[in-house]
Amino acid sequence: MEVVSATQTSDAPTLLVKIFGKDRPGITAGLFDTLAAYSVDVVDIEQVVTRGRLTLCALVTQPAAELEGDLRATVHNWAESMKMQAEIISGIGDNRPRGLGRSLVTVLGHPLTAQATARIAARIANAGGNIDRIFRLAKYPVTAVEFAVSGVETETLRTTLVTDAAALGVDIAVVSAGLHRRAQRLVVMDVDSTLIQDEVIELFAAHAGCEEKVAEVTAAAMRGELDFEQSLHARVALLAGLDASVVDKVRSEVRLTPGARTLIRTLKRLGYQVGIVSGGFTQVTDDLKERLGLDFAQANTLEIVDGKLTGRVTGEIVDRAGKARLLRRFAAEAGVPLSQTVAIGDGANDLDMLNAAGLGVAFNAKPVVREAAHTAVNVPFLDTVLYLLGVTREEVEAADAVEEGDAADAGEEG
Ligand SMILES: [Mg+2]
Repeated sequence: MEVVSATQTSDAPTLLVKIFGKDRPGITAGLFDTLAAYSVDVVDIEQVVTRGRLTLCALVTQPAAELEGDLRATVHNWAESMKMQAEIISGIGDNRPRGLGRSLVTVLGHPLTAQATARIAARIANAGGNIDRIFRLAKYPVTAVEFAVSGVETETLRTTLVTDAAALGVDIAVVSAGLHRRAQRLVVMDVDSTLIQDEVIELFAAHAGCEEKVAEVTAAAMRGELDFEQSLHARVALLAGLDASVVDKVRSEVRLTPGARTLIRTLKRLGYQVGIVSGGFTQVTDDLKERLGLDFAQANTLEIVDGKLTGRVTGEIVDRAGKARLLRRFAAEAGVPLSQTVAIGDGANDLDMLNAAGLGVAFNAKPVVREAAHTAVNVPFLDTVLYLLGVTREEVEAADAVEEGDAADAGEEG
């Protein structure tokens, strides 16, 4: 077999055959069956179906000169008989090689407006980028679209696009299109207001009847009057004397963020390791680790003596620096380089962790966190993070369907 045929060199004449119309089985087979009579070779094929309409593009080698007119007539006749439109364009060679600086731009819209799409495309063009491919990742719970862009540095593109994503009412993630994206293998999440909708200290405070005092300390910390560790100690001190049975009550009150189970289940199926780090308490995070089948969990520990909370924490304090340290520790234990980690969080004390990770995702975060992170998600569905990793909704649902099938086979309940 010849490795490179003379007709497939880059300057050889080629024919681009485009078929458009109502999709149904047999169109692709019919087109190539028609072309086969002219002994042409396939250089490229792209096919996409949008709302039941098929666009099929076949790039084939030029047939012998005396056969080209006949090929054109035969393809048009075949298309007409199938009620499809055909267009045949002569040219030279294949696509030009894609430019250097390849990135993937994921856009999440709820909804995705034409105006936002126009502005994003214009900004890519103004930055010198070319959109090589556009692909829908999901239509639920948000519309997620991925643009493959070349010709501009990823960092430049990120600066250009991410800064005014909020003004456009969309979330935009820009990542390098290198192989490392497929190799991302560890996701580490914050807990309060990220994995769960609650702030655990507030749940404890409600049982201790000191919600207002805890809120005052939180506000003082936010004003910069206390650092995280001081505010942690001050708030935990307010819980002194609380019966340890409250721990079980708080565990049952914790509400997972919508999409949290889908995110974790899908990541686990894809072979990711998943961890949580929290400025909250191991009494809750250990339970979440168990319930959700997580690989790693670390938080502060409430000291309990004689069945009562003492108002102190024990062990290593998990603060802003501690979260980044734990990301590194989990990555080392998982055998994953930091560049292949993803961190998700909402608060200022997540910033070091978000910046240390290969991809830092600010999840419904305050503006200061949003601006400092690689990317931001501002819809309240945690599973939308999957789209930033290039996982499609279809893949999520297909994996769920397989699992349901397996469960049914085993006679288990969903
Ligand atoms: Mg948080």
